[in-house]
Amino acid sequence: MHHGYAKSIASLERAKRSLAGGVSSNVRAGDKPFPLYFERGMGSKLWDVDGNEYIDFVLGRGPLFLGHTHAGVIEATCKQLQMGQIYAAQHELEIELAERVCRIVPCADLVRFGISGSEAVHGALRLARAATGRKTVIKFEGQYHGWLDNILYSLGPDPTRAGEWDHPRTLAESPGQFDGEESHVVVLPWNHLPTLEQYLDQHRGEIAAVITEPVMCNTAVIPPLPGFLEGMRELCTKHDVVLIFDEVITGFRLSLAGAQGRFGIKPDLTIFGKAIANGMPISCLAGIEKYMRLIAAGKVGHGGTYNSIPPAVAGAIATLDALEQDEHAAYAAADRAGLALVDGLRGLAKKLNLPLVVQGYGVIFYLGFPKQGVALHEGQAITDYRTSLTMDQDLYSAFVSDIVGRGVRIIPRGNWFLSSAHTDDDVAATLEAAEAALIEVVV
Ligand code: PLP
Repeated sequence: MHHGYAKSIASLERAKRSLAGGVSSNVRAGDKPFPLYFERGMGSKLWDVDGNEYIDFVLGRGPLFLGHTHAGVIEATCKQLQMGQIYAAQHELEIELAERVCRIVPCADLVRFGISGSEAVHGALRLARAATGRKTVIKFEGQYHGWLDNILYSLGPDPTRAGEWDHPRTLAESPGQFDGEESHVVVLPWNHLPTLEQYLDQHRGEIAAVITEPVMCNTAVIPPLPGFLEGMRELCTKHDVVLIFDEVITGFRLSLAGAQGRFGIKPDLTIFGKAIANGMPISCLAGIEKYMRLIAAGKVGHGGTYNSIPPAVAGAIATLDALEQDEHAAYAAADRAGLALVDGLRGLAKKLNLPLVVQGYGVIFYLGFPKQGVALHEGQAITDYRTSLTMDQDLYSAFVSDIVGRGVRIIPRGNWFLSSAHTDDDVAATLEAAEAALIEVVV
């Protein structure tokens, strides 16, 4: 039984009088049906202040790969909290975590820890520019690397302003950022090697770095086309450009060693956040010695009061313990639940005769509804940002509002996160809710 949203509505009204916009991150303002208030999470479930229960596929927007309130992570974090919160000094847990990451991650010769993915991205870009003595960074249309000035470009650009497909314009996402050429960021289409090759050839000696999500998780969970990441690696090596994999979402999710482990491609620098600590705030900048030694030598600036904060480091170690346990049973569980949902949603598409797009992986996948008149074939339909615009965002938002009311919490952008805590029962209940929501909103 749904208990309504009266308490959440009242809390949001109250919040708006002191908290800008009533939320602590602009992204949350777009939640459907509106920003709700939660008071408890456990495993795959979350409860709001009105007493409604949800099967949660938001999972903190990625971190909770082991589900909410994982016993091992909570225990390790609490134990460390009782030993002190912050020393502003070295502690042995940070060595243990650094050694673990260096052992697990192919490109990690050396690491540094921080708090958020955004600041670790900032560190990687600074390092790449310092190491190469060049200014320009290439990023890809539709990809997100955090909210900081130097990279918040062309995440969801308006196609009428975004330039030609093979010459996209660099568009700031927020007033207050430098726009266009001043930004030293060049935006290219993803999954299209010839454009990257041509750009690097025409701008020899100018490009410091190419930064990419190795799977385009922030837009339609688009996998790399065969050969794309391999080609990117070769081109970066050829042009002596630093290749940065932003693994804030894919890290410790797509496999223990992230996308670089899953696809067998070694970037020069990489960034982790989210799933590395199952909800505790910690990020990691890792990379090959050639570059990381500039930070090690104190030549390139990197700092932060909360870097390597002991409770979060303890939480990260406990997370890695759980992820490595029983030959990676957590991955098998999350994948199983995710693939069952992918299959089930494709089954619903057939049953209801709807052209749904379901693509990605088990551990993270995308669901979208094509706009009327868009021709689709089965399986993967979207390979780049511009094609993702053929999805009907308004219709999907209506679907999200409806299914949230049925006890299934999902992200309005279409990406579904899975955890090892999701069960067969969760999958069955979710498919039942999805069918009802599709019939209500889409059919
Ligand atoms: N990079 C990617 C791929 C992300 O998805 C995000 C956040 O969603 C970030 C960077 C920024 O991380 P944070 O929100 O921890 O600053």
